[in-house]
Amino acid sequence: MSVATIQVLARTRRNSPCRTCGEIVTWFRTFPRERWIAFDADPVALRTTGNPIVGETIEELDRADVHWSHCRPTASQGEGVTG
Ligand SMILES: [Zn+2]
Repeated sequence: MSVATIQVLARTRRNSPCRTCGEIVTWFRTFPRERWIAFDADPVALRTTGNPIVGETIEELDRADVHWSHCRPTASQGEGVTG
């Protein structure tokens, strides 16, 4: 069975506290449809690839590491990151 993964833009990786629980989480923009997603801190990429079309490094992360799988933000907190 293969692991469900999410593709993210490597350059968007940044750590900040979760607004719901205060834990440090790692934020990324997803690829190709860009939106912010929070993972548990410092997730290890299962695979890293270059995408020559968009000139970006894409990391594939385990969907099970998504912070929101065990910490649910409220509707107003689900999107966005400051800084
Ligand atoms: Zn949280």
